Amino acid sequence: MTTRSARRLPVHTGPAAWSAILPGQDAPRPLEGNRNAEFAIVGGGFAGLSAARRLRQLNPQARIVVLEAGRLAEGASGRNSGFMIDLPHDLASDDYAGKGAESDRALIGLNRTAINFAREAVKEYGINPAFFDESGKVNGAASPAGDAHNRSYAAHLTGLGEANERLDAKAMHALTGSHHYLSGLYTPGTVTLQPAGYIRSLGAGLRCDGVEVCENSGVSRIDSAGPDWALTTRHGIVTASTVILANNGHLESFGFARRRLMHIFLFASMTVDLDADTLKTLAGAPRWGITPSDPMGTTMRRIDTAQGGNRIITRTCGAFLPGMQAGPASVRRAARIHRQKFNDRFPALNGVRQEFSWAGHLCLSRNGVSVMRELEPGIFSACVQNGLGTARGTMTGIGAAELASGQTSAITKALAAEGEPVKLPPSPFAEIGANAVLRWKEWRAGKE
Ligand SMILES: Cc1cc2nc3c(=O)[nH]c(=O)nc-3n(C[C@H](O)[C@H](O)[C@H](O)COP(=O)(O)OP(=O)(O)OC[C@H]3O[C@@H](n4cnc5c(N)ncnc54)[C@H](O)[C@@H]3O)c2cc1C
Repeated sequence: MTTRSARRLPVHTGPAAWSAILPGQDAPRPLEGNRNAEFAIVGGGFAGLSAARRLRQLNPQARIVVLEAGRLAEGASGRNSGFMIDLPHDLASDDYAGKGAESDRALIGLNRTAINFAREAVKEYGINPAFFDESGKVNGAASPAGDAHNRSYAAHLTGLGEANERLDAKAMHALTGSHHYLSGLYTPGTVTLQPAGYIRSLGAGLRCDGVEVCENSGVSRIDSAGPDWALTTRHGIVTASTVILANNGHLESFGFARRRLMHIFLFASMTVDLDADTLKTLAGAPRWGITPSDPMGTTMRRIDTAQGGNRIITRTCGAFLPGMQAGPASVRRAARIHRQKFNDRFPALNGVRQEFSWAGHLCLSRNGVSVMRELEPGIFSACVQNGLGTARGTMTGIGAAELASGQTSAITKALAAEGEPVKLPPSPFAEIGANAVLRWKEWRAGKE
């Protein structure tokens, strides 16, 4: 008999703002009592819900249960900046026709498959299009170094045949109302999500599709039960022949990939709903999304009433926290930095209050691979999204569902070909080293 106990369940610091700004939702529905199912999924984020949808497509009659420790969209899937990105941050291609270009094209193709899958869910489940805005995004440059990075990135994209458009400082001001940016690089393929709206609605769609989605149902242990697996939650047990672990970094809490995963926390703040006078002062477009030309820089988004209010979201600061929990002091520190970054970009909005500040947990491997494979007979994983989990989480969820259903696809082949996450240096060197590098990179990102 095999038993795997969860060493910890997720703990969130700060509010899940994207969910808080949406109209209230029904009371949570935890698992009550015991069930048998063909498929049980642990985790109800991008990966878990995408796995459930793909399983439903491939197994129309199967009994599928999703067990989520908290409420939908209160974990990282509702705490991110909402950029569902088709293009990698770094392109491997040094030449535009060789192997690097081939692997760039392959990765872009996989990201787009994931985005198409999400788009179809939006259509099929009647999800509010404001939660899935096909707006593209702009890589903002606030310094000559950032501008040079954007030019080189644009040349790579053009070499790959990818559309892109350079925006000058005037166009950036017209878009954002800020004079901070020297230039920008617009690419059309990114979807900007209202992440909580998308995740909550995806959960609702799955329920209509006959999937049982249980909230406040953290899985505390997994036991072998003959040929099946029994998943224990506070008020009930699900026994299933096939399990998909879609709990990202908490894969390690069940003892898998130990000392191989980097638990990174990112931080963000969101303003109050801006009043009419402030909006007039701000000017610019009602919605936009700016990623930084340096990945360790600051991400900004503006959203509108259809997405939960006229608000600006600032995302910067990262910390490596192997204990998988961010303390309130780290959120306070990040909130002070967010305030400063916001003021740098919008000096005329200096007094505007940040209503929410929060931390969110994501998971990276040092070699940038995901863990999407069969871990033990009947237990599959859709974890380790390496920071871009809105697209990659969708992708690993699709892949794990396909593997668990005995199917292969471009996604299963590509993810199965990735190696294992490499080991981290021993503690405390890993933490000290990683945090020093993060701080240094944040400092180096400067105005970006
Ligand atoms: C501030 C911030 C900004 C970000 N911005 C972006 C962005 O713009 N674009 C992008 O692509 N990514 C972004 N990310 C990363 C992205 O949010 C994650 O990569 C993504 O959420 C991963 O999805 P997932 O479903 O794999 O994991 P998660 O979203 O973490 O979902 C896993 C779920 O498993 C649940 N769980 C864990 N353990 C158990 C258990 N024992 N039992 C039951 N349930 C369990 C958790 O509660 C959680 O809901 C950002 C993250 C943060 C924090």
